Amino acid sequence: MENRQAPDKSPVKLDPRGRKVKILATTGPASNSPEMLRRLFRAGVDAFRVNMSHGEHAQHAKTIAAIRKLEKEFHRPIAIFCDLQGPKLRVGKFKDGKAVIRHSGHFTLDRKEEPGDETRVCLPHPELFGLMEKGQRLLINDGKIRLRVIEASDDAILCSAEVGGVISDRKGVNVPDAEIPIPALTAKDRKDLAFAVEQGADWIGLSFVQRPEDLAEARRLMGGYGALCAKIEKPMAVRRLDEIIELSDGIMVARGDLGVELDPEDVPPLQKTIVNKTRTAGKPVIVATQMLESMIESPSPTRAEVSDVANAVYDGADAVMLSAETAAGEWPEEAVTIMHRIATKVENDPDYMGRVRFLDTPPDPTTADALSHACMTIADTVKIGAVTVFTGSGSTARRVARERPSVPMLVLTPSMRTARRLALLWGAHAVATKDIGSFEEMIAKGKRMALRHGFGEAGSKLIALAGVPFGTPGSTNLLHIVTLSGNELEKHRG
Ligand code: PGA
Ligand code: MN
Repeated sequence: MENRQAPDKSPVKLDPRGRKVKILATTGPASNSPEMLRRLFRAGVDAFRVNMSHGEHAQHAKTIAAIRKLEKEFHRPIAIFCDLQGPKLRVGKFKDGKAVIRHSGHFTLDRKEEPGDETRVCLPHPELFGLMEKGQRLLINDGKIRLRVIEASDDAILCSAEVGGVISDRKGVNVPDAEIPIPALTAKDRKDLAFAVEQGADWIGLSFVQRPEDLAEARRLMGGYGALCAKIEKPMAVRRLDEIIELSDGIMVARGDLGVELDPEDVPPLQKTIVNKTRTAGKPVIVATQMLESMIESPSPTRAEVSDVANAVYDGADAVMLSAETAAGEWPEEAVTIMHRIATKVENDPDYMGRVRFLDTPPDPTTADALSHACMTIADTVKIGAVTVFTGSGSTARRVARERPSVPMLVLTPSMRTARRLALLWGAHAVATKDIGSFEEMIAKGKRMALRHGFGEAGSKLIALAGVPFGTPGSTNLLHIVTLSGNELEKHRG
């Protein structure tokens, strides 16, 4: 049974964020407490990422419970994005939590389970031993440490450190020169996925997707629950991008691993390609990783980082993501605040709409797309407060968002699951509310909700988009324009 909100009874004005791009923030030791989650939400987070690569189920369950409490407190749906680790290789732990690998020194990866030091660490992936060859690279911690294999046996890989540095517990390892025979979902992923489904995660992130088949397997295990986001971080996935987008509900441009598996300069053009293709498919696309990286330690970002966030917004991405900035950094709240400010600034640029609409997304020959397209042109022609979309599955909202209309979408849905999922969709302000049964009810509710959620002023118009008969999936066939009268405003204020 899915739970439903009853915002109908709430007299409070529920402010929209005032921006269309969404903020996805990763939880972790720096943000797991209910107080910090609350502060991050207030600062602008629309969706939280629970990273299954780190932490225990018990802690994740507490984090998720705290987020669900926030939803109740603020009467706003929040998406929970459970990110599966996938076949990501990681080193083991260290005696002191970390160690320094010396430049041009030697370092060994082995199968001994004891904690590591500056000479060695455990690599808990038996499939790598016996596979690595002399001269191949092992890149650690997003490629910051670069090792080259001198000698590899069945239980140890001796390397020289071409670039040394600080290595710490469970840092990631990329092996761009070897093909590793690991399935898309590890045993850990299966357990984590079952946990995520049981916890009611709204989105499941699938890491290191290589083939479209990887998604089918995850889908089967999800059993019809939640939305599936493929993370594009392998060269293999880039080659089969169209098929992967087709089978996903959303896409993440996972620039961290993508820029290690490929060269870093390959990432910007790929980001644009992936964003464009996913937008064209009418699915949400997230730009992720290192967006405000320096804010892990500093209360203010670099100019380059500010530009990076701004450019992702100008690209028309649905969401921008914070990783370690909010999961483990010293300035989680500041990172969200600045991201919100950058996004708001960009969206207030008079050239913003023009730039976002550089991408031509011609409507499919369907009634839903024809009406979605009409919403966009109407909002460009007359002063509109919001496009009010009545939807069950959220599909109509996605088709309208695909048109990148200049005004926000107020999405009214009887499904709390849909409302939460739409927290990652560009321009959508979703509200879970009781279903409507008639045209009159639809108009009344549309007006009431627009006023309550701050989308209307005297004389402003609303577009209502719905399918009649109500509650029939795929029936989008009704576009109606209503004007909010001064009377209605007065009544609402009084
Ligand atoms: P991660 O994914 O943070 O789970 O590694 C994102 C990325 O690789 O960019
Ligand atoms: Mn990754």
